[in-house]
Amino acid sequence: MRVLVAGGAGYIGSVVTAALLDGGHEVTVLDDLSTGHADAVPSGARLIDASLHDSAPVLADVRPEAVLHFAARSLVGASQERPQDYWDTNVAGSFALLEAMRGVGCRRIVFSSTAATYGEPELVPIPEDAPTRPTNTYGATKLSVDMMLTSYAVAHGFAAVSLRYFNVAGAAYGLGERHTTETHLIPIALQVATGERDSMTIYGDDYPTPDGTCIRDYIHVGDLADAHLLALPAPGPGEHRIYNLGNGLGFSVQEVVGAVREVTGHPIPVVVGPRRPGDPAQLVASSDRIRADLGWTPRHTDLAGIVRDAWELRGART
Ligand code: UDP
Repeated sequence: MRVLVAGGAGYIGSVVTAALLDGGHEVTVLDDLSTGHADAVPSGARLIDASLHDSAPVLADVRPEAVLHFAARSLVGASQERPQDYWDTNVAGSFALLEAMRGVGCRRIVFSSTAATYGEPELVPIPEDAPTRPTNTYGATKLSVDMMLTSYAVAHGFAAVSLRYFNVAGAAYGLGERHTTETHLIPIALQVATGERDSMTIYGDDYPTPDGTCIRDYIHVGDLADAHLLALPAPGPGEHRIYNLGNGLGFSVQEVVGAVREVTGHPIPVVVGPRRPGDPAQLVASSDRIRADLGWTPRHTDLAGIVRDAWELRGART
């Protein structure tokens, strides 16, 4: 299939681009390189440096049969401090992209949604029909795009899938996490191991969880890429499917730091700080729906294995 990958220079987008090329697809990446890296785009893909707001001429040129949409701002903390940036890129940008798709008659899309659409869950593991009450602007913007997709499916015959990622980690196809300003737990702990930082902060140890630190569901980026390839052809016109993507296993911040200590052999000194605004105590996925519908099965469920892949890629880069 001829596909456009919006945000293909970022962590997840670049890994999925590699998987798409591996699967025989023809890939063009649209990315404004605001947080992505041109050298992360696999060599078999064409890169067009443009923002979502300017996507119409790009789609008119590429004429994709499908779009995979990863381009977004994705930091919970920043979304609380500068919500305007999040509404602009994530919602107005996605709207421009959907309109550009409509303009060229492209109606197939896989969208990167998030566990943050659910907010503080009533039921864990979280099923897709759980209430969506985001506790931060990031989650609210992603939920808005999910809603946009439902209405574009109904009104305009879009065939859409929203994949609600839980905490993506690890490395695949020689590509991993490489943010200029790192905020995610596993890369930060690995920076302590490499000596780039002296210590790290645990954001709150007074949550209602067994060790008081937040629980998250860490999914390997390679398993996530598999899900995109399965999701791409799945929906029919007029259908918007929503699938959670996680392992169904929760690990606390303390457990993740423990896994990083085990893998790297470094003591990883920690300081306990205040809670980070917008963080729910616990986010663990039920991925039963995508397993049943598309036969998706995660291959890397072991936390230490996920951390090891990220650590080994770091070693390969230096
Ligand atoms: N976290 C932490 N210290 C850090 C970075 C993250 O304690 O330096 C915690 C954060 O509060 C959350 C969990 O680790 O409970 C995962 O955060 P991350 O930013 O990796 O992903 P998110 O869950 O926000 O998507």
